[in-house]
Amino acid sequence: MQVYGLIGNPVGHSLSPPMHEAGYREVGLDARYVTFEPGADDAVAAVEGADALGVAGLNVTIPFKRDVLEAVDPDPLAERIGAVNTIDFGEGTPTGYNTDAVGAVRALREHDVAIEGTAVVVGAGGAGRAVAFGLADEGMTVEIANRTVETAHDLAADVPDASGHGLDDLDDLLVDADVLVNCTSVGMDEDRSPVAADALHGDLAVLDAVYSPIETRLLREAAAAGATTVDGAWMLLFQGVEAFERWTGERAPVDQMNAALRDRLHET
Ligand code: NAP
Repeated sequence: MQVYGLIGNPVGHSLSPPMHEAGYREVGLDARYVTFEPGADDAVAAVEGADALGVAGLNVTIPFKRDVLEAVDPDPLAERIGAVNTIDFGEGTPTGYNTDAVGAVRALREHDVAIEGTAVVVGAGGAGRAVAFGLADEGMTVEIANRTVETAHDLAADVPDASGHGLDDLDDLLVDADVLVNCTSVGMDEDRSPVAADALHGDLAVLDAVYSPIETRLLREAAAAGATTVDGAWMLLFQGVEAFERWTGERAPVDQMNAALRDRLHET
């Protein structure tokens, strides 16, 4: 039996176990996906311990995505983003990937959103970094707006064809934008949006990285403005699909993984 898993803290409500295990069942893999909560300073020890125990792959979530860089060889994209959310164990040093970037791009493509023109990324933490690199690498101009403006400027300096802003610039930035991605935690388990409703319009596609609740206030207001909306479970799905394929070498059964994810989301 192969063991895959997730390290983070907390991970109690993770949706990844049912999503991945639905995938293993569908392709007939004898595998389990388990969650681990190391202590605050134990991320590197956890990765080394998992390697020693023969764990085949790990996802990594808050607060360890940067810490685990010390224990892996990051691929070039994970190195540029400065965060790892997927570790593949093989011979020698484990490889670190960041599948959040491709997760966002695939979530938009799944909804027939053209990845071209200008994207506004709100937030410059772990998700914001990944999404900004992911969209810029696809050729989009990226405007990054963050509550702490210095963090937006720092990220924009690393991302090709990007600029950094404070949240006060959001209304102006959205006028000509094609894509908006919320990468802040605003809206998570609360009825708040990081963007003024009247700045949203029908030529926008809006992806909210927040997936709890599944229909955030931002997505409700975007739909009312006539925008295309993509919920955060799609991004979660495709970052998981990408990890599944890297680990197993099998084509991921996307529909079954999506169904398992959404079943669990509706239970919570
Ligand atoms: P993070 O690294 O802690 O970054 C949090 C971001 O939110 C920062 O940009 C922060 O701004 C901003 N922020 C926090 N509170 C705010 C407020 N009251 N007003 C305005 N901005 C605020 O977290 P993360 O890993 O990027 O995650 C962000 C969200 O994305 C979470 O809800 C997470 O669940 C979600 N996420 C989803 C997926 C997915 O697959 N769907 C993947 C990754 C993350 P400052 O820099 O000013 O603090």
